[in-house]
Amino acid sequence: MEHTVRKHIEEHLCICRRCNGTGVDPEHPGSPCPQCDGSGRVVVSSDVVTNCRPYVPNK
Ligand SMILES: [Zn+2]
Repeated sequence: MEHTVRKHIEEHLCICRRCNGTGVDPEHPGSPCPQCDGSGRVVVSSDVVTNCRPYVPNK
């Protein structure tokens, strides 16, 4: 039987991965990071869909 799990992850603050929380654009030093607008943090939310089905070897 196939089984689907949906999970919603509410908005939360995360360290910006583009600038690693520094707020400076790594590709243009001296400019604010465009992903977090120079704050070093971003608001993240996600919807995750996980599908599970039986794994039967040798079939
Ligand atoms: Zn950033």
